[in-house]
Amino acid sequence: MAADGTTNGLLRGSELTGRVLDATEKFVAIRDRVCGACEYSCCHSGTMVGQHGVRRALKGIELKPELGPAIREAMRARAEELKADLDTIRKVTELLEMGFAAQMPAELAELKRLTAEWADFADFLGSDFELSHDNLRRVTEFTAVRANLLRGVGSFAGGHAALARFSGPGGSFTFRRRRLAPPRCMFHRDGCVLDRYKPIKCANFFCNGEPNLLAECQDEMTFDEFVLANMYVEPFAFVRQVIEQAGVLGPDYWEPLVAVPAARAQGDELVSLAHLREGRVELRQEPAGFYLSTEEVLHAIVATGRDNTVIYRAASVGGPALYELAVALQRAHNDGILGGFILIPDGFAPSAFMPHPMWTDHMMSQPLGSLDIFAIGE
Ligand code: SF4
Ligand code: SF4
Repeated sequence: MAADGTTNGLLRGSELTGRVLDATEKFVAIRDRVCGACEYSCCHSGTMVGQHGVRRALKGIELKPELGPAIREAMRARAEELKADLDTIRKVTELLEMGFAAQMPAELAELKRLTAEWADFADFLGSDFELSHDNLRRVTEFTAVRANLLRGVGSFAGGHAALARFSGPGGSFTFRRRRLAPPRCMFHRDGCVLDRYKPIKCANFFCNGEPNLLAECQDEMTFDEFVLANMYVEPFAFVRQVIEQAGVLGPDYWEPLVAVPAARAQGDELVSLAHLREGRVELRQEPAGFYLSTEEVLHAIVATGRDNTVIYRAASVGGPALYELAVALQRAHNDGILGGFILIPDGFAPSAFMPHPMWTDHMMSQPLGSLDIFAIGE
């Protein structure tokens, strides 16, 4: 073992998981301090969860038993808020009726229809619905329900201001600068209830707030620590379950995965499991370590095809290569060309060279957040 606690300079097994846990603890302490100060302003701009986000949430609900109850609690609390808002909407509608019944009957009728739509949605949200694909999709439709209602109220001069003025306890209508403030994301309740299964764009985003989360991380963490804090320590059985789940759910649910096994035999088993999924599965070896650039990874993804999987086994991977990989995977996802991608390095190589330029250039998006990188315990 080398003086820095690594085996042949590589981290794996308990050496790696110990470093990951330390780095995660450091990151969480920074995040809790900084994000508390800005009151989660990045999650107060509507719901970021779309079609792909719903799929990620569903996978998380199956893999992490605590996720379902957390989502349900958030939905119940939000339903209460929507009901308080409904009282406000009804009060404002009554006042508008008194003033505009003769001049704007069509607009009033439309506002009543939109109010009924809001009431239906609030009932649904508080109904302890099954956490299925269709129901989670319906949750994300609140953005449209709210926008329609505000359009209806906005047909009347002073309508939005009346919503803010009559907003009662527990309600959400409030003015920010000269407009009604946007709503919180449906999955936000003292932080993101989706945890690591949040949408890709949220997972990779770093704030433009003040104080700034990325700036604080860069002050207090090394690049390697930041990379390690983006890994998850999981037992082998969990990673096996992730690969099995992808096989059962099919290509629409495939997401890239990096797993650093504690022993070579674990890597062999993951490769065998991945071979059970549909489509062609191609195994490539990188005996000198995984050093592919973003362009080289994209080339491999295109050659593999949308319905197939490529598995890389490599002697090692380091932070800069993980960044290059994550950028390529995100581009491929955005372009709709990403098939299955699995990287199984024998160990994590602490950076011998420079950090990745996205880190040193303080880019607002850091790409590792949405990539599942597992450090497998012994
Ligand atoms: S990431 Fe930035 S904007 Fe978002 S909650 Fe944290 S400090 Fe606020
Ligand atoms: S999904 Fe989570 S991280 Fe993204 S906006 Fe919603 S609460 Fe925030």
